[in-house]
Amino acid sequence: EPEHGTVLDLFRAAVSRAPETAAIRYFDGELTVAEVDAASDALAVALQDNGFQQGDRLGVYVQNDPAFVVAVVAAWKAGGAAVVINPMNKARELSYLLADSGATALLCLDELHDSVAREVLASGATQVSTVITCSAQDWRSGAVPRAGGETLDLLEIVERNAGREPVADPPSPDDVAVLTYTSGTTGEPKGAMNTHAVIAFNAQAFRDWMGLTPADSVLGVAPLFHITGLVGHFALSLLVPCPLVLAHRFQPEVVLEAIRRHRPTFTIGAITAFIALAAVEGVSPADFRSFRLIYSGGAPVPPAVNQQFLERTGHYIHNAYGLTETTSITHLVPPGARAPVDPTSGALSIGLPIFNTVVRILDDEGAEAPVGQVGEIAIAGPQVVPGYWGKPEATAAALPNGELRTGDVGFMDADGWFYVVDRKKDLINAAGYKVWPREVEDVLYEHPAVLEAAVVGVPDPYRGETVKAFVALKPGASATTEDLLAHCKDQLAAYKYPRRIELLPELPKTPTGKILRRTLRDR
Ligand code: ATP
Repeated sequence: EPEHGTVLDLFRAAVSRAPETAAIRYFDGELTVAEVDAASDALAVALQDNGFQQGDRLGVYVQNDPAFVVAVVAAWKAGGAAVVINPMNKARELSYLLADSGATALLCLDELHDSVAREVLASGATQVSTVITCSAQDWRSGAVPRAGGETLDLLEIVERNAGREPVADPPSPDDVAVLTYTSGTTGEPKGAMNTHAVIAFNAQAFRDWMGLTPADSVLGVAPLFHITGLVGHFALSLLVPCPLVLAHRFQPEVVLEAIRRHRPTFTIGAITAFIALAAVEGVSPADFRSFRLIYSGGAPVPPAVNQQFLERTGHYIHNAYGLTETTSITHLVPPGARAPVDPTSGALSIGLPIFNTVVRILDDEGAEAPVGQVGEIAIAGPQVVPGYWGKPEATAAALPNGELRTGDVGFMDADGWFYVVDRKKDLINAAGYKVWPREVEDVLYEHPAVLEAAVVGVPDPYRGETVKAFVALKPGASATTEDLLAHCKDQLAAYKYPRRIELLPELPKTPTGKILRRTLRDR
Protein backbone atom coordinates (compact mmCIF):
# COMPACT_ATOMS: atom_id res chain seq x y z
CA GLU A 1 0.00 0.00 0.00
CA PRO A 2 1.71 3.22 -1.13
CA GLU A 3 2.14 6.17 1.19
CA HIS A 4 -0.03 9.18 0.41
CA GLY A 5 0.98 12.78 0.09
CA THR A 6 2.30 14.95 -2.71
CA VAL A 7 5.10 14.28 -5.16
CA LEU A 8 6.93 17.20 -3.55
CA ASP A 9 6.66 15.49 -0.12
CA LEU A 10 8.13 12.32 -1.65
CA PHE A 11 11.00 14.28 -3.18
CA ARG A 12 11.70 16.11 0.10
CA ALA A 13 11.78 12.77 1.89
CA ALA A 14 14.31 11.53 -0.69
CA VAL A 15 16.42 14.66 -0.12
CA SER A 16 16.68 13.97 3.60
CA ARG A 17 17.31 10.24 3.12
CA ALA A 18 19.86 10.29 0.32
CA PRO A 19 21.10 13.80 -0.59
CA GLU A 20 24.35 12.58 -2.12
CA THR A 21 22.74 10.02 -4.45
CA ALA A 22 23.05 10.97 -8.12
CA ALA A 23 19.67 12.20 -9.34
CA ILE A 24 20.61 12.79 -12.98
CA ARG A 25 23.37 11.52 -15.24
CA TYR A 26 23.51 13.55 -18.41
CA PHE A 27 26.35 12.85 -20.86
CA ASP A 28 29.46 13.62 -18.74
CA GLY A 29 27.55 15.66 -16.14
CA GLU A 30 25.97 14.56 -12.88
CA LEU A 31 23.58 16.23 -10.43
CA THR A 32 23.01 14.85 -6.95
CA VAL A 33 19.64 14.85 -5.25
CA ALA A 34 20.83 17.76 -3.08
CA GLU A 35 21.90 19.70 -6.20
CA VAL A 36 18.48 19.25 -7.83
CA ASP A 37 16.96 20.45 -4.57
CA ALA A 38 19.18 23.54 -4.47
CA ALA A 39 18.73 24.39 -8.16
CA SER A 40 14.95 24.06 -7.93
CA ASP A 41 14.91 26.29 -4.81
CA ALA A 42 16.84 28.93 -6.72
CA LEU A 43 14.54 28.76 -9.75
CA ALA A 44 11.43 28.87 -7.54
CA VAL A 45 12.74 32.02 -5.84
CA ALA A 46 13.45 33.63 -9.21
CA LEU A 47 9.97 32.76 -10.45
CA GLN A 48 8.46 34.39 -7.37
CA ASP A 49 10.70 37.44 -7.71
CA ASN A 50 9.20 37.80 -11.18
CA GLY A 51 5.59 37.65 -10.02
CA PHE A 52 4.79 33.92 -10.03
CA GLN A 53 1.95 33.40 -7.52
CA GLN A 54 0.39 30.54 -5.62
CA GLY A 55 -1.56 28.39 -8.13
CA ASP A 56 0.22 29.75 -11.25
CA ARG A 57 1.49 27.58 -14.12
CA LEU A 58 5.01 27.33 -15.57
CA GLY A 59 5.29 26.13 -19.18
CA VAL A 60 8.19 23.68 -19.58
CA TYR A 61 9.18 23.58 -23.23
CA VAL A 62 12.48 21.69 -23.24
CA GLN A 63 13.89 18.31 -24.22
CA ASN A 64 15.06 15.54 -21.89
CA ASP A 65 17.54 17.83 -20.15
CA PRO A 66 18.21 18.24 -16.42
CA ALA A 67 16.42 21.59 -16.81
CA PHE A 68 13.13 19.70 -17.15
CA VAL A 69 13.56 18.07 -13.74
CA VAL A 70 14.68 21.26 -12.02
CA ALA A 71 11.83 23.29 -13.55
CA VAL A 72 8.96 20.99 -12.64
CA VAL A 73 10.13 20.71 -9.02
CA ALA A 74 10.62 24.51 -8.94
CA ALA A 75 7.03 25.09 -10.11
CA TRP A 76 5.77 23.02 -7.16
CA LYS A 77 8.05 24.78 -4.68
CA ALA A 78 6.81 28.15 -5.92
CA GLY A 79 3.25 27.01 -5.13
CA GLY A 80 2.21 26.20 -8.68
CA ALA A 81 2.10 23.54 -11.38
CA ALA A 82 3.97 22.72 -14.59
CA VAL A 83 2.58 22.50 -18.11
CA VAL A 84 4.82 20.10 -19.98
CA ILE A 85 5.10 20.88 -23.67
CA ASN A 86 6.47 18.84 -26.55
CA PRO A 87 9.57 20.72 -27.79
CA MET A 88 8.68 19.71 -31.34
CA ASN A 89 5.56 21.89 -31.18
CA LYS A 90 5.48 24.86 -33.53
CA ALA A 91 4.22 28.40 -32.77
CA ARG A 92 0.52 27.64 -33.36
CA GLU A 93 0.58 24.63 -31.01
CA LEU A 94 2.70 26.35 -28.35
CA SER A 95 0.39 29.34 -28.42
CA TYR A 96 -2.69 27.15 -27.88
CA LEU A 97 -1.16 25.26 -24.94
CA LEU A 98 0.12 28.39 -23.18
CA ALA A 99 -3.21 30.19 -23.64
CA ASP A 100 -5.34 27.17 -22.68
CA SER A 101 -3.34 26.50 -19.52
CA GLY A 102 -3.00 30.19 -18.65
CA ALA A 103 0.74 29.78 -18.02
CA THR A 104 2.40 32.98 -16.77
CA ALA A 105 6.01 31.83 -17.03
CA LEU A 106 7.88 29.77 -19.60
CA LEU A 107 11.12 27.81 -19.56
CA CYS A 108 12.38 27.11 -23.05
CA LEU A 109 15.46 26.05 -24.93
CA ASP A 110 17.51 28.90 -26.39
CA GLU A 111 16.94 27.71 -29.91
CA LEU A 112 13.18 27.29 -29.36
CA HIS A 113 13.00 30.81 -28.00
CA ASP A 114 14.52 32.24 -31.12
CA SER A 115 12.66 30.08 -33.60
CA VAL A 116 9.23 29.71 -31.97
CA ALA A 117 8.58 31.22 -28.54
CA ARG A 118 9.53 34.79 -29.45
CA GLU A 119 6.83 34.81 -32.13
CA VAL A 120 4.20 33.46 -29.71
CA LEU A 121 5.10 35.95 -26.98
CA ALA A 122 5.07 38.89 -29.40
CA SER A 123 1.57 37.93 -30.56
CA GLY A 124 0.17 38.73 -27.10
CA ALA A 125 -2.07 35.65 -27.24
CA THR A 126 -0.79 34.27 -23.92
CA GLN A 127 -0.38 35.50 -20.34
CA VAL A 128 3.33 34.68 -20.18
CA SER A 129 5.34 37.48 -18.60
CA THR A 130 8.54 35.68 -17.54
CA VAL A 131 10.76 33.76 -19.95
CA ILE A 132 13.74 31.71 -18.84
CA THR A 133 16.01 30.08 -21.38
CA CYS A 134 18.42 27.21 -21.07
CA SER A 135 20.61 25.26 -23.43
CA ALA A 136 21.00 21.58 -24.23
CA GLN A 137 24.66 22.09 -23.21
CA ASP A 138 23.80 23.17 -19.64
CA TRP A 139 24.88 20.70 -16.94
CA ARG A 140 27.45 19.03 -19.13
CA SER A 141 30.79 19.46 -17.45
CA GLY A 142 32.21 22.92 -18.03
CA ALA A 143 28.84 24.61 -18.79
CA VAL A 144 28.91 28.31 -17.92
CA PRO A 145 26.03 30.75 -17.36
CA ARG A 146 25.31 33.10 -20.25
CA ALA A 147 24.36 36.78 -20.05
CA GLY A 148 20.58 37.20 -19.79
CA GLY A 149 19.54 39.67 -22.50
CA GLU A 150 15.76 39.85 -22.97
CA THR A 151 15.28 36.50 -21.18
CA LEU A 152 16.62 35.09 -17.92
CA ASP A 153 19.29 32.40 -18.12
CA LEU A 154 18.61 29.29 -16.05
CA LEU A 155 22.21 28.58 -14.99
CA GLU A 156 22.68 32.22 -14.12
CA ILE A 157 19.52 32.14 -11.96
CA VAL A 158 20.75 29.03 -10.16
CA GLU A 159 24.12 30.66 -9.46
CA ARG A 160 22.74 34.04 -8.41
CA ASN A 161 20.01 32.67 -6.10
CA ALA A 162 22.07 29.92 -4.48
CA GLY A 163 21.04 29.38 -0.86
CA ARG A 164 17.71 31.25 -1.10
CA GLU A 165 14.51 29.31 -0.35
CA PRO A 166 11.06 30.01 -1.77
CA VAL A 167 8.14 30.70 0.55
CA ALA A 168 4.81 29.20 -0.56
CA ASP A 169 1.95 27.14 0.81
CA PRO A 170 2.82 23.47 0.30
CA PRO A 171 0.73 21.77 -2.38
CA SER A 172 -2.03 19.40 -1.29
CA PRO A 173 -2.61 15.99 -2.91
CA ASP A 174 -5.59 17.15 -4.98
CA ASP A 175 -3.75 20.14 -6.49
CA VAL A 176 -2.71 19.87 -10.13
CA ALA A 177 1.01 19.04 -10.26
CA VAL A 178 1.39 18.75 -14.03
CA LEU A 179 -0.88 19.39 -17.00
CA THR A 180 -0.13 16.85 -19.74
CA TYR A 181 -1.84 17.54 -23.04
CA THR A 182 -3.28 14.72 -25.12
CA SER A 183 -1.87 14.91 -28.63
CA GLY A 184 -5.28 15.72 -30.04
CA THR A 185 -6.06 12.82 -32.36
CA THR A 186 -9.63 13.45 -31.24
CA GLY A 187 -10.24 17.21 -31.48
CA GLU A 188 -8.30 20.01 -29.79
CA PRO A 189 -5.65 19.07 -27.22
CA LYS A 190 -6.97 18.65 -23.69
CA GLY A 191 -4.87 19.13 -20.56
CA ALA A 192 -5.15 16.03 -18.37
CA MET A 193 -4.98 17.17 -14.75
CA ASN A 194 -2.27 15.01 -13.23
CA THR A 195 -2.62 15.93 -9.59
CA HIS A 196 0.00 15.30 -6.93
CA ALA A 197 -2.07 12.35 -5.70
CA VAL A 198 -2.29 10.54 -9.04
CA ILE A 199 1.40 11.01 -9.88
CA ALA A 200 2.52 10.06 -6.37
CA PHE A 201 0.40 6.91 -6.50
CA ASN A 202 1.68 5.70 -9.85
CA ALA A 203 5.33 6.60 -9.27
CA GLN A 204 5.17 4.51 -6.10
CA ALA A 205 3.41 1.74 -8.03
CA PHE A 206 6.38 1.66 -10.42
CA ARG A 207 8.88 1.65 -7.55
CA ASP A 208 7.11 -1.10 -5.65
CA TRP A 209 6.36 -3.41 -8.61
CA MET A 210 9.91 -3.06 -9.94
CA GLY A 211 11.47 -3.17 -6.47
CA LEU A 212 13.70 -0.18 -7.29
CA THR A 213 16.24 1.05 -4.72
CA PRO A 214 18.91 3.78 -4.81
CA ALA A 215 21.26 1.15 -6.30
CA ASP A 216 19.13 1.11 -9.46
CA SER A 217 19.31 3.54 -12.33
CA VAL A 218 16.55 4.51 -14.75
CA LEU A 219 17.27 5.04 -18.45
CA GLY A 220 15.15 7.78 -20.03
CA VAL A 221 14.04 6.63 -23.47
CA ALA A 222 10.56 8.22 -23.44
CA PRO A 223 10.18 12.00 -23.63
CA LEU A 224 9.77 13.49 -20.15
CA PHE A 225 6.82 15.64 -21.28
CA HIS A 226 4.87 12.46 -22.11
CA ILE A 227 3.17 10.59 -19.29
CA THR A 228 5.44 7.52 -19.66
CA GLY A 229 8.56 9.64 -19.13
CA LEU A 230 6.93 11.95 -16.60
CA VAL A 231 6.00 9.11 -14.25
CA GLY A 232 8.17 6.12 -15.28
CA HIS A 233 11.39 8.23 -15.47
CA PHE A 234 11.07 11.62 -13.74
CA ALA A 235 8.77 11.09 -10.73
CA LEU A 236 10.01 7.54 -10.19
CA SER A 237 13.72 8.44 -10.01
CA LEU A 238 13.01 11.45 -7.74
CA LEU A 239 11.20 9.44 -5.12
CA VAL A 240 13.39 6.30 -4.99
CA PRO A 241 15.78 8.30 -5.32
CA CYS A 242 18.06 6.88 -7.99
CA PRO A 243 19.94 8.23 -11.01
CA LEU A 244 17.98 9.10 -14.14
CA VAL A 245 20.14 8.70 -17.25
CA LEU A 246 19.17 11.33 -19.82
CA ALA A 247 20.02 11.98 -23.45
CA HIS A 248 18.37 15.18 -24.66
CA ARG A 249 16.62 13.45 -27.53
CA PHE A 250 16.14 9.87 -28.62
CA GLN A 251 18.86 8.94 -31.09
CA PRO A 252 19.58 5.20 -30.88
CA GLU A 253 23.39 5.57 -31.09
CA VAL A 254 23.44 8.30 -28.42
CA VAL A 255 21.19 6.29 -26.09
CA LEU A 256 23.33 3.18 -26.59
CA GLU A 257 26.39 5.25 -25.68
CA ALA A 258 24.59 6.40 -22.50
CA ILE A 259 23.81 2.76 -21.64
CA ARG A 260 27.48 1.79 -22.09
CA ARG A 261 28.64 4.71 -19.98
CA HIS A 262 26.08 4.74 -17.13
CA ARG A 263 24.89 1.10 -16.95
CA PRO A 264 21.14 1.64 -16.17
CA THR A 265 19.06 -1.15 -14.65
CA PHE A 266 15.48 -0.24 -15.59
CA THR A 267 13.63 1.43 -18.41
CA ILE A 268 10.20 1.84 -19.95
CA GLY A 269 9.54 3.23 -23.41
CA ALA A 270 7.74 2.77 -26.68
CA ILE A 271 8.36 -0.48 -28.51
CA THR A 272 9.76 1.43 -31.51
CA ALA A 273 12.59 2.71 -29.27
CA PHE A 274 13.59 -0.88 -28.53
CA ILE A 275 13.28 -1.84 -32.21
CA ALA A 276 15.64 1.03 -33.04
CA LEU A 277 18.14 0.18 -30.26
CA ALA A 278 18.32 -3.48 -31.30
CA ALA A 279 18.95 -2.42 -34.91
CA VAL A 280 22.08 -0.35 -34.10
CA GLU A 281 25.09 -1.95 -35.73
CA GLY A 282 27.35 -3.78 -33.30
CA VAL A 283 24.81 -3.97 -30.45
CA SER A 284 25.31 -7.07 -28.28
CA PRO A 285 23.90 -8.67 -25.10
CA ALA A 286 26.91 -7.23 -23.23
CA ASP A 287 25.50 -3.72 -23.80
CA PHE A 288 22.31 -4.69 -21.96
CA ARG A 289 23.89 -6.68 -19.13
CA SER A 290 23.25 -4.02 -16.48
CA PHE A 291 19.46 -4.09 -17.01
CA ARG A 292 17.23 -5.93 -14.54
CA LEU A 293 13.94 -5.06 -16.23
CA ILE A 294 12.78 -3.60 -19.52
CA TYR A 295 9.18 -2.51 -20.07
CA SER A 296 7.33 -1.31 -23.12
CA GLY A 297 4.27 0.91 -22.73
CA GLY A 298 2.03 3.05 -24.87
CA ALA A 299 1.60 0.74 -27.86
CA PRO A 300 1.18 -2.97 -28.58
CA VAL A 301 4.21 -5.27 -28.32
CA PRO A 302 4.27 -7.50 -31.42
CA PRO A 303 5.33 -10.98 -30.21
CA ALA A 304 7.84 -11.36 -33.07
CA VAL A 305 9.57 -8.11 -32.08
CA ASN A 306 9.85 -9.30 -28.50
CA GLN A 307 11.45 -12.56 -29.67
CA GLN A 308 13.98 -10.73 -31.87
CA PHE A 309 14.87 -8.34 -29.04
CA LEU A 310 15.44 -11.29 -26.73
CA GLU A 311 17.79 -12.90 -29.23
CA ARG A 312 19.67 -9.66 -29.85
CA THR A 313 20.01 -8.40 -26.26
CA GLY A 314 19.15 -11.26 -23.91
CA HIS A 315 16.16 -9.31 -22.53
CA TYR A 316 12.47 -10.07 -22.52
CA ILE A 317 10.31 -6.94 -22.99
CA HIS A 318 7.55 -6.76 -20.35
CA ASN A 319 4.32 -5.24 -21.56
CA ALA A 320 2.62 -2.38 -19.68
CA TYR A 321 -0.57 -0.53 -20.50
CA GLY A 322 -1.94 2.88 -19.61
CA LEU A 323 -2.97 6.29 -20.88
CA THR A 324 -2.26 9.94 -20.20
CA GLU A 325 -5.58 10.04 -18.33
CA THR A 326 -4.43 7.18 -16.07
CA THR A 327 -1.10 8.87 -15.32
CA SER A 328 0.74 5.99 -17.04
CA ILE A 329 0.25 2.39 -15.89
CA THR A 330 -2.97 0.59 -15.06
CA HIS A 331 -1.78 -2.89 -16.14
CA LEU A 332 1.55 -4.60 -16.33
CA VAL A 333 3.13 -7.98 -16.78
CA PRO A 334 4.71 -8.61 -13.36
CA PRO A 335 8.54 -8.54 -13.33
CA GLY A 336 9.95 -11.90 -14.34
CA ALA A 337 6.60 -13.22 -15.61
CA ARG A 338 5.95 -13.98 -19.27
CA ALA A 339 2.80 -12.55 -20.78
CA PRO A 340 0.34 -15.21 -21.92
CA VAL A 341 -0.56 -15.13 -25.60
CA ASP A 342 -4.18 -15.09 -26.78
CA PRO A 343 -4.57 -18.34 -28.76
CA THR A 344 -7.03 -16.81 -31.26
CA SER A 345 -5.32 -13.56 -32.23
CA GLY A 346 -1.75 -14.27 -31.12
CA ALA A 347 -1.72 -11.01 -29.08
CA LEU A 348 0.49 -10.69 -26.00
CA SER A 349 -1.39 -9.88 -22.81
CA ILE A 350 -0.98 -6.35 -21.40
CA GLY A 351 -0.79 -7.96 -17.96
CA LEU A 352 -2.73 -7.66 -14.72
CA PRO A 353 -4.30 -4.54 -13.19
CA ILE A 354 -1.97 -2.95 -10.62
CA PHE A 355 -3.16 -2.56 -7.02
CA ASN A 356 -6.35 -0.61 -6.26
CA THR A 357 -7.20 -0.44 -9.98
CA VAL A 358 -10.68 -1.57 -11.04
CA VAL A 359 -11.06 -2.55 -14.69
CA ARG A 360 -14.34 -3.34 -16.42
CA ILE A 361 -15.06 -4.46 -19.97
CA LEU A 362 -18.21 -2.76 -21.26
CA ASP A 363 -20.47 -3.98 -24.05
CA ASP A 364 -22.17 -1.66 -26.57
CA GLU A 365 -24.93 -0.87 -24.07
CA GLY A 366 -22.40 0.07 -21.39
CA ALA A 367 -23.11 -3.05 -19.30
CA GLU A 368 -20.29 -5.18 -17.92
CA ALA A 369 -19.36 -7.92 -20.40
CA PRO A 370 -18.70 -11.51 -19.27
CA VAL A 371 -15.19 -13.01 -19.07
CA GLY A 372 -13.65 -13.51 -22.53
CA GLN A 373 -16.02 -11.15 -24.31
CA VAL A 374 -14.59 -8.19 -26.20
CA GLY A 375 -15.71 -4.68 -25.22
CA GLU A 376 -14.47 -1.20 -24.28
CA ILE A 377 -11.95 -1.08 -21.43
CA ALA A 378 -13.09 1.20 -18.57
CA ILE A 379 -10.83 2.02 -15.63
CA ALA A 380 -11.28 3.44 -12.15
CA GLY A 381 -8.45 3.82 -9.66
CA PRO A 382 -6.21 6.18 -7.69
CA GLN A 383 -4.18 6.99 -10.83
CA VAL A 384 -7.16 8.16 -12.93
CA VAL A 385 -7.15 11.95 -13.41
CA PRO A 386 -10.10 13.95 -12.10
CA GLY A 387 -10.60 15.53 -15.53
CA TYR A 388 -9.35 17.92 -18.22
CA TRP A 389 -8.28 21.46 -17.41
CA GLY A 390 -11.17 23.89 -18.03
CA LYS A 391 -13.20 21.34 -20.03
CA PRO A 392 -16.14 20.05 -17.96
CA GLU A 393 -17.99 18.63 -20.98
CA ALA A 394 -15.02 16.62 -22.27
CA THR A 395 -14.45 15.46 -18.69
CA ALA A 396 -18.06 14.28 -18.30
CA ALA A 397 -17.88 12.42 -21.63
CA ALA A 398 -14.58 10.61 -20.99
CA LEU A 399 -14.95 10.10 -17.24
CA PRO A 400 -18.58 9.34 -16.33
CA ASN A 401 -18.67 8.94 -12.52
CA GLY A 402 -14.88 9.17 -12.48
CA GLU A 403 -14.43 5.97 -14.51
CA LEU A 404 -12.34 6.44 -17.66
CA ARG A 405 -13.70 5.17 -20.98
CA THR A 406 -10.40 4.38 -22.69
CA GLY A 407 -11.54 4.04 -26.31
CA ASP A 408 -9.63 0.75 -26.40
CA VAL A 409 -11.28 -2.55 -27.09
CA GLY A 410 -10.14 -5.61 -25.18
CA PHE A 411 -11.06 -8.52 -22.95
CA MET A 412 -10.08 -10.42 -19.82
CA ASP A 413 -9.32 -14.15 -19.84
CA ALA A 414 -10.43 -16.66 -17.22
CA ASP A 415 -7.21 -16.14 -15.21
CA GLY A 416 -7.62 -12.37 -15.04
CA TRP A 417 -5.05 -11.40 -17.71
CA PHE A 418 -6.12 -8.53 -19.97
CA TYR A 419 -5.66 -8.14 -23.73
CA VAL A 420 -6.04 -5.06 -25.92
CA VAL A 421 -7.54 -5.96 -29.26
CA ASP A 422 -7.07 -2.47 -30.72
CA ARG A 423 -8.30 1.08 -30.61
CA LYS A 424 -12.04 1.35 -31.18
CA LYS A 425 -11.59 4.03 -33.82
CA ASP A 426 -9.01 2.08 -35.85
CA LEU A 427 -11.34 -0.82 -36.66
CA ILE A 428 -11.40 -1.51 -40.40
CA ASN A 429 -14.75 -2.42 -41.91
CA ALA A 430 -14.09 -4.20 -45.24
CA ALA A 431 -17.47 -4.97 -46.81
CA GLY A 432 -18.85 -5.86 -43.37
CA TYR A 433 -15.83 -7.92 -42.34
CA LYS A 434 -14.18 -6.42 -39.26
CA VAL A 435 -10.39 -6.32 -39.29
CA TRP A 436 -8.29 -5.19 -36.34
CA PRO A 437 -5.06 -3.63 -37.68
CA ARG A 438 -2.92 -4.93 -34.82
CA GLU A 439 -3.45 -8.57 -35.78
CA VAL A 440 -2.25 -7.92 -39.35
CA GLU A 441 0.71 -5.89 -38.04
CA ASP A 442 1.74 -8.76 -35.74
CA VAL A 443 1.87 -11.07 -38.78
CA LEU A 444 3.94 -8.58 -40.78
CA TYR A 445 6.44 -8.30 -37.91
CA GLU A 446 7.00 -12.06 -38.17
CA HIS A 447 8.59 -11.54 -41.59
CA PRO A 448 12.37 -11.38 -41.05
CA ALA A 449 12.86 -8.32 -43.28
CA VAL A 450 10.26 -6.14 -41.52
CA LEU A 451 11.47 -3.38 -39.19
CA GLU A 452 8.18 -1.49 -38.68
CA ALA A 453 4.62 -2.08 -39.85
CA ALA A 454 1.34 -0.19 -39.67
CA VAL A 455 -2.03 -1.22 -41.03
CA VAL A 456 -4.92 1.15 -41.75
CA GLY A 457 -8.29 1.14 -43.49
CA VAL A 458 -8.39 3.12 -46.74
CA PRO A 459 -11.47 3.98 -48.84
CA ASP A 460 -12.33 1.39 -51.46
CA PRO A 461 -15.06 1.76 -54.13
CA TYR A 462 -16.03 -1.89 -53.87
CA ARG A 463 -15.62 -2.84 -50.17
CA GLY A 464 -16.17 0.60 -48.65
CA GLU A 465 -12.87 0.19 -46.82
CA THR A 466 -9.93 -2.04 -47.50
CA VAL A 467 -6.81 -3.11 -45.61
CA LYS A 468 -3.58 -1.30 -46.45
CA ALA A 469 -0.16 -1.94 -44.91
CA PHE A 470 2.80 0.41 -44.69
CA VAL A 471 6.13 -1.28 -44.06
CA ALA A 472 9.70 -0.13 -43.38
CA LEU A 473 12.37 -2.77 -43.95
CA LYS A 474 15.38 -3.49 -41.76
CA PRO A 475 18.62 -1.84 -42.88
CA GLY A 476 20.20 -4.05 -45.56
CA ALA A 477 17.15 -6.36 -45.76
CA SER A 478 15.37 -6.92 -49.04
CA ALA A 479 11.79 -8.05 -49.60
CA THR A 480 9.29 -7.10 -52.28
CA THR A 481 5.66 -6.24 -51.62
CA GLU A 482 4.83 -9.59 -53.31
CA ASP A 483 6.98 -11.43 -50.72
CA LEU A 484 5.19 -9.65 -47.88
CA LEU A 485 1.80 -10.32 -49.40
CA ALA A 486 2.56 -14.03 -49.80
CA HIS A 487 3.63 -14.14 -46.13
CA CYS A 488 0.35 -12.49 -45.02
CA LYS A 489 -1.82 -14.70 -47.25
CA ASP A 490 -0.21 -17.70 -45.61
CA GLN A 491 -1.15 -16.55 -42.11
CA LEU A 492 -4.41 -14.66 -42.41
CA ALA A 493 -8.00 -15.22 -43.55
CA ALA A 494 -8.75 -13.86 -47.00
CA TYR A 495 -10.62 -10.77 -45.73
CA LYS A 496 -7.74 -9.75 -43.45
CA TYR A 497 -4.62 -9.75 -45.58
CA PRO A 498 -3.58 -6.31 -46.89
CA ARG A 499 -4.89 -5.62 -50.39
CA ARG A 500 -2.26 -2.90 -50.74
CA ILE A 501 1.27 -2.76 -49.33
CA GLU A 502 3.51 0.26 -49.57
CA LEU A 503 7.19 0.30 -48.61
CA LEU A 504 8.47 3.46 -46.91
CA PRO A 505 11.99 4.29 -45.70
CA GLU A 506 10.53 4.84 -42.20
CA LEU A 507 7.10 5.19 -40.65
CA PRO A 508 5.84 8.47 -39.15
CA LYS A 509 5.85 8.48 -35.35
CA THR A 510 4.82 10.65 -32.42
CA PRO A 511 7.71 11.99 -30.32
CA THR A 512 6.98 9.12 -27.94
CA GLY A 513 7.74 6.70 -30.74
CA LYS A 514 4.18 5.57 -31.46
CA ILE A 515 3.58 4.85 -35.11
CA LEU A 516 1.02 7.31 -36.45
CA ARG A 517 -1.66 5.29 -38.22
CA ARG A 518 -3.70 8.50 -38.58
CA THR A 519 -0.98 10.24 -40.64
CA LEU A 520 -0.67 7.17 -42.84
CA ARG A 521 -4.43 7.03 -43.34
CA ASP A 522 -4.44 10.68 -44.44
CA ARG A 523 -1.81 10.13 -47.14
P1 ATP B 1 -4.02 11.10 -27.89
O1 ATP B 1 -3.24 12.18 -27.30
O2 ATP B 1 -4.52 11.38 -29.21
O3 ATP B 1 -5.07 10.57 -26.97
P2 ATP B 1 -2.79 8.58 -27.46
O4 ATP B 1 -4.14 7.95 -27.44
O5 ATP B 1 -1.68 7.85 -28.08
O6 ATP B 1 -2.91 9.99 -28.12
P3 ATP B 1 -1.75 8.15 -24.83
O7 ATP B 1 -2.48 8.47 -23.59
O8 ATP B 1 -0.33 8.47 -24.94
O9 ATP B 1 -2.47 8.94 -25.95
O10 ATP B 1 -1.83 6.61 -25.19
C1 ATP B 1 -2.78 5.73 -24.66
C2 ATP B 1 -3.13 4.68 -25.68
O11 ATP B 1 -1.99 3.92 -26.07
C3 ATP B 1 -4.10 3.66 -25.16
O12 ATP B 1 -5.42 4.14 -25.23
C4 ATP B 1 -3.84 2.47 -26.08
O13 ATP B 1 -4.55 2.60 -27.29
C5 ATP B 1 -2.37 2.58 -26.37
N1 ATP B 1 -1.60 1.64 -25.51
C6 ATP B 1 -0.93 1.94 -24.38
N2 ATP B 1 -0.29 0.86 -23.90
C7 ATP B 1 -0.58 -0.18 -24.72
C8 ATP B 1 -0.23 -1.57 -24.74
N3 ATP B 1 0.59 -2.11 -23.85
N4 ATP B 1 -0.74 -2.33 -25.74
C9 ATP B 1 -1.56 -1.80 -26.67
N5 ATP B 1 -1.91 -0.49 -26.72
C10 ATP B 1 -1.43 0.31 -25.75
